Amino acid sequence: MAQIKEFSVEEKLASLVRLQKIESKLDEYKILKGELPMEVSDLEDEIQGLHARQTRIEEEINGIQEFINQKKEAIKEAEALIKKYDKQSQNVKNSREFEAINKEMEMQQLETKLAEKHIKDANEEIGEKVVVLEKAKKNVAAKEGVLKNKKDELDKIIATTEKEERHFNKLAGDAREKVEPRLLTSYDRIRKNYRNGLAVVPVVRDACGGCFNAIPPQRQSEIRQRKKIIVCENCGRILVDDELNNVVDLK
Ligand SMILES: [Zn+2]
Repeated sequence: MAQIKEFSVEEKLASLVRLQKIESKLDEYKILKGELPMEVSDLEDEIQGLHARQTRIEEEINGIQEFINQKKEAIKEAEALIKKYDKQSQNVKNSREFEAINKEMEMQQLETKLAEKHIKDANEEIGEKVVVLEKAKKNVAAKEGVLKNKKDELDKIIATTEKEERHFNKLAGDAREKVEPRLLTSYDRIRKNYRNGLAVVPVVRDACGGCFNAIPPQRQSEIRQRKKIIVCENCGRILVDDELNNVVDLK
């Protein structure tokens, strides 16, 4: 059977410190980008929504324009009929026929008036929608300007950190493999609990380097012995002695 290497507590602690230092470095890149990635993606979503709204208004205007065209067509037809009736009325044989034609003409004149009223209302409606559309267009343009600035800013940061970030991501992957799973789970859980992402901290000036809670001398000497994994009683972070912390160097 192959010999499986048992890591000493000291080695386990050293692996954890190394992982913490690498991931803290990655955290720095994230902090550098700040809210930019989220702001960019929020803005992109918002602009997409605004574009959809703009398209909807344009479609509505087209619909109303279509309606106006139909009404104009109807007026043309009515006018043609009126002309026809007018000619017929000159050749009527009796007053009954004359009245019948007159009635038809009046009907068509009414149709025309009604269509004109519809066109007038529809044009007003288009006018209102055009105002809304112009506002929407201006809004989109403004948002797109803001998006461009934020994207440029983010791209600039990414361009300067990309290579290092990739390097440290690779290191983090390797370092994670060297920490035993159970310990890694605790590490991740503690790390997630704190905004500064520190799960492994050194004892600094007799206190926990994470929460600054004082650590009694007896406990400090246990930590220095590196015989078992000791966590801060106050914040739960894994504690290492300052010397071990300094020995682990990423360079
Ligand atoms: Zn603490």
